[in-house]
Amino acid sequence: MCKVIAIANQKGGVGKTTTAMNLGMGLVKEGKKVLMMDADPQGSLTISLGFREPDKLTDTLFDIFRLEAAGEEIQPEYGIRHLQDNVDLIAGNIDLSSVEISLSAAISRETMLRGVVNELRDHYDYIIIDCMPSLGTVTLNALTCADTVLIPVQAAYLPVKGLRQLIKTINLVKRSLNPDLEIEGILLTMVDARTNYAKDIVAQVHEVYGKSIPVFEIEIPLSVRAAETSAVAQSIYEYDPKGKATLAYTTLTKEVLAHG
Ligand code: ATP
Ligand code: MG
Repeated sequence: MCKVIAIANQKGGVGKTTTAMNLGMGLVKEGKKVLMMDADPQGSLTISLGFREPDKLTDTLFDIFRLEAAGEEIQPEYGIRHLQDNVDLIAGNIDLSSVEISLSAAISRETMLRGVVNELRDHYDYIIIDCMPSLGTVTLNALTCADTVLIPVQAAYLPVKGLRQLIKTINLVKRSLNPDLEIEGILLTMVDARTNYAKDIVAQVHEVYGKSIPVFEIEIPLSVRAAETSAVAQSIYEYDPKGKATLAYTTLTKEVLAHG
């Protein structure tokens, strides 16, 4: 059984891509076959996986949207890059930014990805979708074909307002497009355990959301080594095997595996 997890938060810079990369690679370390999907025009996940110039790539997620909107048949392996054993990628790049505009007239534009993703389910244990920091057409597509959403939240300011908007959108998608969508959990990231401020925010997230939405026990600590990984195209397991953020991502991976 394949599980499709969208990593989403319309707030920028909260650790979505870092989490997509290190949860994905964590699952691979646990013997799972994983497809990484980059649904962000910034192409950060694509860069993290070793493609320095995502904007030069062809056969990307944008092309899947383009072909789908044109009503063309999409070949089963289309757009899939085999990176290493058990790790495949559908790349994302700047072209995705035009999906919102150029495909805005397409029929059923929020469900364009669903068919393709459903076809791919047979080939993977997990499909991890790294979303962009907005709640437009591409993100709605990701939420429409996902089984669950994992929401990284940076423990640096009280994120209540932004989270509310995101949860509203998730509920809307659930009502109209994807009734089975569930929340995998809120993941607190960049937690600086030395400050009371971070502790307050963590406590408040549990207080405000903990009753209705799962909040992961494990928190991702603030870590310079974690920040550096985005520049070196390595997972945190390779770059800093014994680091505290690495341990946290290992625990997160096990929690996600335990969810089934
Ligand atoms: P965007 O919304 O732009 O896609 P994002 O939500 O994907 O951003 P990331 O790119 O994962 O966020 O992280 C934002 C920045 O914070 C990056 O420079 C990243 O390297 C850094 N970062 C991520 N996790 C940590 C951490 N645990 N400790 C310190 N820095 C981190
Ligand atoms: Mg990102």
